[in-house]
Amino acid sequence: MKRAPRANPYRDRWAGDLRPDAVGTTVTVAGWVHRRRDHGGLIFLDLRDRSGLLQLVIHPQPGDETFAAAEALRPEHVVSVTGEVVAREAGKVNPELATGEIEVAVHDLRTLAEAQTPPFQVDDDGQLDEMTRLRHRAIDLRRETMRTALELRHEVVAAIRNHLGEYDFLEIETPILTRSTPEGARDFLVPNRREPGTWYALPQSPQLFKQLLMIGGYERYFQIARCFRDEDMRADRQAEFTQLDVELAFVEEDDVIELIEGLMARVFEVGGFDVPPPPWDRMTYAEALARYGSDRPDRRFGLELRDVSGALRGSQFKVFQSVLDSGGAVVVLNAGRVELSRSELDGLNEVVQRHGGKAVAWAFVESGPPTPSWRSPIAKFFTAEQIAAVGGEPGELLLFAADERQVALEALGGLRVELAQRLGLERSGHDVLWVVDFPMFGWNAGEERWDPLHHPFTAPTGSLDDPGALGSRNYDLVADGVELGGGSIRIHEAEVQQKVLDLIGIDADEAQRRFGFLLDALRHGAPPHGGIALGIDRIVAMLAGRDSIRDVIAFPKTASGADPLTGAPAPVDERQVRELGLRAL
Ligand code: ASP
Repeated sequence: MKRAPRANPYRDRWAGDLRPDAVGTTVTVAGWVHRRRDHGGLIFLDLRDRSGLLQLVIHPQPGDETFAAAEALRPEHVVSVTGEVVAREAGKVNPELATGEIEVAVHDLRTLAEAQTPPFQVDDDGQLDEMTRLRHRAIDLRRETMRTALELRHEVVAAIRNHLGEYDFLEIETPILTRSTPEGARDFLVPNRREPGTWYALPQSPQLFKQLLMIGGYERYFQIARCFRDEDMRADRQAEFTQLDVELAFVEEDDVIELIEGLMARVFEVGGFDVPPPPWDRMTYAEALARYGSDRPDRRFGLELRDVSGALRGSQFKVFQSVLDSGGAVVVLNAGRVELSRSELDGLNEVVQRHGGKAVAWAFVESGPPTPSWRSPIAKFFTAEQIAAVGGEPGELLLFAADERQVALEALGGLRVELAQRLGLERSGHDVLWVVDFPMFGWNAGEERWDPLHHPFTAPTGSLDDPGALGSRNYDLVADGVELGGGSIRIHEAEVQQKVLDLIGIDADEAQRRFGFLLDALRHGAPPHGGIALGIDRIVAMLAGRDSIRDVIAFPKTASGADPLTGAPAPVDERQVRELGLRAL
């Protein structure tokens, strides 16, 4: 801890901060009983406060109340003790503990609160069931792994605030009760009691407000912003999450990217995350998709994809040929020299299906005179030239997907990552890069309309008359295959904004109704501007080496959006519902 606490009847020192230089002094410390051991007539207590652990020793003295009180202590009781700091005997030093060279010989002990038997022990041994941890979060938060994660989170946010402060950014809050922002997810709605039938939406991001701040002349804004998206939860998402939201005026891509590189280099340093110094690589979306089947490539291992449509066109294999005839592609992933059993190979189908594909075809390359041949159920459909053109070394496993090009690439991209895990491919070090030059829209076949890949306030490049060919001024920051954040240069002209909304099926009337406040502001002198948002939960989880973002959020929800601690979401009183002009189900 940076400073000693103000002395009061509970404590005058942090327990975990005591070192041999304090030997001979009398201290008062307070905290929780972490462990109690009775030993040769002595009682040893490990006292825990936020600064760490400290060993207390209580010597028996006839008729001594302190000893009697110590005997009654149980784990997690809350105590304040006064005693003398003494050096431990040489053999008793505990090198594992920062305070391991000393202990406190207690002469006065006050029990401040008793604790029931905790639902689990407050140490980090043993695999605890997450539901139990979340239900008893106050106790779970006492564990060192939780404390270090939340300390790191604080350090990260503090570094962000310092860095952006040095660059003249203002931290400005934006509303939580607001109107829908189209980030592409479902809104959380809040009924308005004063005018039943009208609703607030919780912000999916502060996107429109930060643009208004630019139009308002603030030029450099940031916020550690809470965002809400009512999505069907995927494994490691929270409906409510925190992002660093940034916006700047009179900027282009390089300005935002350089700023964030400086900032993130500092954040990575805080987390002891060893990345190459910036500038970081920039890869186009097209290249990322073609080589890695993903817009967030993990480049720490090979297994790159290749489009072999040209090589395999005209084969006897109907499945490939009909895909090629209808404008699709055949893509191959060379998995290297691996032996997979027939059932393991069949199991790969399920993996690609999870990533949007249909099936994988497989072939083992064999050296066969004069050119390579395949050991594969589909080998007979291909000529020696075709097999040679696909390439590969003897013993290597080739995995093929045939589909619409993007679908085939993404399916194998998903398989690529899972295979790397399964094969235990080394993924040492860390890899950071920008993915740039995204398309503006993707075709939503179900709804028969264009959907923005980022959001509809992103500035397009190219002609608005050809939406499918439009690029966007969008950039994503990716580390180790995880998207840490993304942003864009924005549209700052009302007519262009109107046109883009029109392309995604929001006509002028609806645009005016939903985003009139933005369109009006854009008509009053909007500077060119752009920004980014970075996911704080994900970044901290990555730096802390935690698999789940729930481990770096003090009070998270489960994957199904429930809060086992408070029991939310929960029914409310009938009366409350009526007041809102609603009817309970
Ligand atoms: N509002 C965007 C998001 O939340 C980020 C941005 O474009 O700045 O993803």
